[in-house]
Amino acid sequence: MIENLLAYQVADARLRKIEMELSGSEERKKAVSAKKYIETAPENVNKLDDKAADLEAELNLAVSETAKIKEQQAELEKALKTVEEPSDATYLIEQIDELMANLKVLDGKISKITAEIQTILGEFSSIKKMTKAAQAQYAEFGKKYNDLKASKQGEREVIEKELEGLKKNVDPALMERYLKKRANKIYPILYEVTGNICGSCNMELSMAELSKLKNGEVIDCEMCGKMLYISKK
Ligand SMILES: [Zn+2]
Repeated sequence: MIENLLAYQVADARLRKIEMELSGSEERKKAVSAKKYIETAPENVNKLDDKAADLEAELNLAVSETAKIKEQQAELEKALKTVEEPSDATYLIEQIDELMANLKVLDGKISKITAEIQTILGEFSSIKKMTKAAQAQYAEFGKKYNDLKASKQGEREVIEKELEGLKKNVDPALMERYLKKRANKIYPILYEVTGNICGSCNMELSMAELSKLKNGEVIDCEMCGKMLYISKK
């Protein structure tokens, strides 16, 4: 019985090879990476939008603070012109100096925020450019990948037909187990046990497992999930 599934697995290797060729192809990799970029771009744009909005609010605050301080400064300078007591003049001058120092700090802050906004604008335009490039890449390599897939279709159908034939000889329960693992991209699936370990992952098998194997049962390795058997020769 196991021989029939082994025969299936041998033919299945050819299908697996085509699948690997397709999934590992440059065409697919380039199409996938472009698609990924296109899909994540809106999220990055949103993040930049939020950042830009925060910076704009910060900038507005700094600008209005600057205006307020300049008003205060003008008032103090006006008062300085009419002041009579030297000590009052000294006081006013100190106040004006303090305001000027604050203005300098705000000025630095405004320059920094403006530079950050410029950086964000640059990032926006780079995302736009790269999205365009990614769209072109996706169109080009998506088509190339489909062409590659189509070029293998004939070969694939021949193997699939052969597999359909081989499937009829295999115990349905075993076949189902095999196909489930195959869908999870495990290959090869069947392993022959020669000693008391799994030939795939080297896990030691229990006495109970070994006796099941000796009874002709096909068991699943607990560790790697491969299907194990002992051949009866
Ligand atoms: Zn194993």
